[in-house]
Amino acid sequence: MPKDSGGFLKRCFLFDIEINENNEIYSLGAVLGGQQVLIEPGKKIGKRQLADVDALASGADFILGHNILAHDIPSLAQVAPELRLLRKPAIDTLYLSPLAYPENPYHRLVKDYQLVRDSVNNPAQDAKLAGRVFAEQWQAFVGQLAQGADAPLLYRGFFHLDPRLQGLSAALFSMGVPLLEGDDLLATFSRFLQEKVCEKARKHWVDHIFDGQTAFSPLSYVTAWLSVAGGNSVLPPWVRHHFPEVVSMLHQLRECPCGSPKCNYCNRNHNPRIFLQDFFGFDDFRPTPATVDNKSLQEEIVKAAAANASLFATLPTGGGKSLCYLLPALMRYQRRNALTIVISPLQALMKDQVDNFSRQTGTGIAAALSGMLTLPERGVVLEGIRLGDIGILYVSPEQLRNKSFINTIRQREIGAWIFDEAHCLSKWGHDFRPDYLYSVRFIREFAQKEKSSIPPVQCFTATAKKDVKSEIIDMFRRELGLKIMQFEGGHERSNLIYEVRPVDPYDKKQTVLELLRVRYQPPGSVVIYCARRKGTEDLAEFLQVEGFVVEAFHAGLNPVEKKRIQDAFIAGDTPVICATNAFGMGIDKDDVRLVIHYDIPGSLENYLQEAGRAGRDRDEAECILIFTDQDIETQFTLSSMSRLTRREIAQFLRGLRYAAKGEEQVVLTTGELMRQEVVDLDPDEYQDADTRVRTAVSWLERGGYLERNENNTRVFQGTPLVRNLDEAREKIAKLDLPRRQQERWLAILAALMENGTPNRGFSADELAGLSALSKT
Ligand code: ADP
Repeated sequence: MPKDSGGFLKRCFLFDIEINENNEIYSLGAVLGGQQVLIEPGKKIGKRQLADVDALASGADFILGHNILAHDIPSLAQVAPELRLLRKPAIDTLYLSPLAYPENPYHRLVKDYQLVRDSVNNPAQDAKLAGRVFAEQWQAFVGQLAQGADAPLLYRGFFHLDPRLQGLSAALFSMGVPLLEGDDLLATFSRFLQEKVCEKARKHWVDHIFDGQTAFSPLSYVTAWLSVAGGNSVLPPWVRHHFPEVVSMLHQLRECPCGSPKCNYCNRNHNPRIFLQDFFGFDDFRPTPATVDNKSLQEEIVKAAAANASLFATLPTGGGKSLCYLLPALMRYQRRNALTIVISPLQALMKDQVDNFSRQTGTGIAAALSGMLTLPERGVVLEGIRLGDIGILYVSPEQLRNKSFINTIRQREIGAWIFDEAHCLSKWGHDFRPDYLYSVRFIREFAQKEKSSIPPVQCFTATAKKDVKSEIIDMFRRELGLKIMQFEGGHERSNLIYEVRPVDPYDKKQTVLELLRVRYQPPGSVVIYCARRKGTEDLAEFLQVEGFVVEAFHAGLNPVEKKRIQDAFIAGDTPVICATNAFGMGIDKDDVRLVIHYDIPGSLENYLQEAGRAGRDRDEAECILIFTDQDIETQFTLSSMSRLTRREIAQFLRGLRYAAKGEEQVVLTTGELMRQEVVDLDPDEYQDADTRVRTAVSWLERGGYLERNENNTRVFQGTPLVRNLDEAREKIAKLDLPRRQQERWLAILAALMENGTPNRGFSADELAGLSALSKT
């Protein structure tokens, strides 16, 4: 067996061509042994030049390059089909990469690609680099053989059956890979598949390989992926797009349970109970809530979810909802390295969910991506997704408009989309989130772009009312063509005792104090919900004076403070919290013994959700609502303040149309939209502008008036048009700008000139100012 590739590479004509956007070859480089041809950009590439290239190639046995089968060879064949080099067996290093490095093909593909691309516009260098990539791949295959792996034998056997891939088969032969044919190939493939895939599917494939229906080269990639299946091995996007059959074959082999008790693969990998015990450490599924025929509802949901059904499940808070999607996600990850994306509105608490899951299962496959991460933290998560280390990803819905997020998940196969707190999808729900709606369209368009089928969608909520639920289910049927199974666990909680207490306004604080003294005994915690931020602070202060360890929590606190208070609450150090409804969504604290509503909540659903945070350990707990007549008034004022009027929505539409100036697309920030001269709003309509604009836009989107797409940040390259600051000052003075703005532009220019980097990118804002300068 030859130790290295040196001798073989001498027989290869290494080449690379560059093509412009009109599909014309504008430069070419080729190497054979010590000889080299380079036709630089700008030089003519006609029949004569190509004939010289062909003459050089005549001494070679093979042609070799990166991505030549789909790119270079067809391009050359178009302009000069007579070239003899086109008839030589081809070795494409892109084809070999996922086979040489199955554990982490992504790394290698990127590295190889960069290796080839780094030398800008020098195709001769690129051709040589492809040779180096091949030499490394050679070593990798030799290593696989030394370990006695069957995979390289299968690759060669399958390539040999494809007339276009004789070069690859010959290359493997030179590395010392023997040729398996006919029954030998079948027997080795069958043995290789054993225990790695469903028995029934294995038999089916082995029986049908030679029946004329099967393409052989995809089988190499099926083999490579299976050789490392079960963990973080990604099926490279190039393989998915180039050989879509690989995805469907792997699906049949590993995702479809055969139901036979004799199939070891299915018994292990399609059995949720094994995962429940091995990873979550629970003996059984929750017996309650139960289905009508008295089975565990949790188990039924998990079974359906693990079998990749789309579903809508209502489960009471604390009913073990998260396990219903986490366990199936874990199973999908093990079976197919699939990525399950959980859309959740609870940015601040995603991390807690991830930490709980990691602690419980001892795996590191869950992560969260939200606007709260720093850039380096975000980078780590994105890299983990790309490399296949992440199998469960919590995201806030606005991430779906983010380009880096989208490009990253394109590297992966999506196993399912989960909507946590699914009621946020409904415009009838009190918690309607505009970005949730966008996600439905995103799921459809993403699958279309990736040419994949629409993954299962699984919705979970504790609060959905009938009309909310049917609206969401109809939407998924209509927009994504999904059949949705329904699971109803109700929201009653038998361990909760409810009480309503009308009181006089001056008695409210005293009532709370008495309740704490009489109804509450440590350990365990208390949450007191107030309608307004100020109310939480007043009440907390009052209770502190009375000797309780208590803190106020509301959306106005800074993130560090919020985190500290939440942590102290979870640890039991602060047993009592006075909070607005910003507190509690997703907080996994079992032993809240008392939830007091100091003010009337915004809706019955809000109330159930907040009260439902009591007694999640299923021990008895109390939910007490105290109210005065005046509270009812306050509540009405609050909800009218947050309402968006038809007039306001119409104003925004006007503004958008005006800004678009008849064009199909317009890119605008909230501020820019509000400042359009045709937009006429009352002063109080400027409050919470961002939320109002987003909500209005999503209503307009729903009504078919517009379509909102991915967020667009633009950076432009440019150079200042002035030579020095004095010249700038002169030009700016003529613009008649307010003094502060003049100073701002001067400061920007000064910074640019000082840096001496006139070619750095400008932000859109800077550019607006600079182009104003250039117009004078
Ligand atoms: P929610 O429905 O509010 O999301 P969780 O999923 O957080 O509820 O579950 C509440 C608690 O019940 C968690 O501590 C979880 O670990 C626990 N739990 C879930 N399923 C089981 C089970 N089958 N056996 C025992 N505990 C379980």
